[in-house]
Amino acid sequence: MVKSVNNMPSRPSHRLASDSSDRSPQPANMVVFGGTFDPIHNGHLRTAWDLHETLGYEQITLMPCGVAYHKGDAQTSMKDRSEMLKAATQGISSLRLDLREIERAGPTFTVDTLTELRQSLGNAAHLVWVVGQDAAQTLHKWHKWQQIFDLANVIVVARPGAEWPDFSRWPAKIMSDLQTFKQSAFGAVYKARLTPLPISSSQIRQILSKGGSVRFLAPDQVVNLIDQQQLYRGNHKT
Ligand code: ATP
Repeated sequence: MVKSVNNMPSRPSHRLASDSSDRSPQPANMVVFGGTFDPIHNGHLRTAWDLHETLGYEQITLMPCGVAYHKGDAQTSMKDRSEMLKAATQGISSLRLDLREIERAGPTFTVDTLTELRQSLGNAAHLVWVVGQDAAQTLHKWHKWQQIFDLANVIVVARPGAEWPDFSRWPAKIMSDLQTFKQSAFGAVYKARLTPLPISSSQIRQILSKGGSVRFLAPDQVVNLIDQQQLYRGNHKT
């Protein structure tokens, strides 16, 4: 039986989850790993895998963002990013893809996505938004960031070279026991130390812009797509 860790009501939303053929049926509890994924790499994929394998979540939803207002435009088209994500996750049943943010017009706000998800999952579901430490450092700058904790829990994943954010300013309860965390519908934070892989999309873009190879930093299918489409070549910003 899931329950909230505080008395904050998860507010009903005015939005309805839109349907998409790119989405498999939505699970009752949901762990969402969002990002620009420009491109998806093995640091992302191993993190998602560890969330499944080590933390015991049945399925992890990868959700590419549309226009990340706080990070600027991606270098590749939404189509290219989603093609790479599809290729990377194909045939892996514990990873699913949700393209709602790139289908939504305008800037991507996590709080809008979580409002939709809460609406469709119901108030009791254990909903989790996953961020790496670096993203967590700037979470307080996200649009309506405090509302995120009224809608979902957050897992912060350690990332090489990054540090934990100042959790004291987060309106959330830090939980060290995973099983207790999993009982929470929203408003809780769990710090996860998973397989540390010092890989980043910007590193990949930089290598490619200099004509190098990114083999084994991303899955072969993604490397092949990058090569076929000649992505990230030339003088791109990193
Ligand atoms: P960039 O280098 O362009 O900033 P990135 O590698 O950080 O990109 P994003 O798509 O921006 O990739 O990241 C999506 C999410 O994945 C963020 O929460 C980020 O912290 C996390 N993340 C990215 N790489 C890793 C990694 N190697 N280990 C753990 N988490 C990661």
